[in-house]
Amino acid sequence: MSRPLSRFTCHNLKDYSFVKPYLSQLTYCLPFNSQNYSIETGSPAHVGPHSGAIDFLLPPNTPVLAALEGLVIEVIDQYSIPFFLRIKGSYWPTRLFRSRMNYITLHHHSQQTDEFTFYAHLKKHSTQFKVGDQVKSGELLGYTGWSGWMDKPHLHFVIYTEKVKQFTNQTHESLTPRWQNQS
Ligand SMILES: [Zn+2]
Repeated sequence: MSRPLSRFTCHNLKDYSFVKPYLSQLTYCLPFNSQNYSIETGSPAHVGPHSGAIDFLLPPNTPVLAALEGLVIEVIDQYSIPFFLRIKGSYWPTRLFRSRMNYITLHHHSQQTDEFTFYAHLKKHSTQFKVGDQVKSGELLGYTGWSGWMDKPHLHFVIYTEKVKQFTNQTHESLTPRWQNQS
């Protein structure tokens, strides 16, 4: 069955202009609870509205946590990458799998601003949430897994602005996270 592709994930990048990421107004926790991670930069997928994205290299099946309390506005969790394509650590490093990606988007509303967090490459059927659910900060959203365009296990995490959701101004903005305990 087909579904509408996420505007944030799969729109035509050429049609839009971009603003360099600036610091988020809201303050976020790390979206996992592990000391055993690193950050990889330079992904070819981190362009345009994803330019503020962070790839956290994490083992598969790492719990993914809500970085802030919010409302679930998108849930896709039906996809997996066939096992034979992920042997030898080479999963499916092609954009052909871009639309076969599991992800959750949360809406964080405050009086000052609306921001959104996007958690991608989740494991198939690993979330208990559906659109419209309210989640608490630190609550378990799902698990890292194999879905979408990826060549190693990681969590792709982005914060973006209302403009992405509303698809206005032909401008997509991602934000650099302001982390808790960061001055
Ligand atoms: Zn990424």
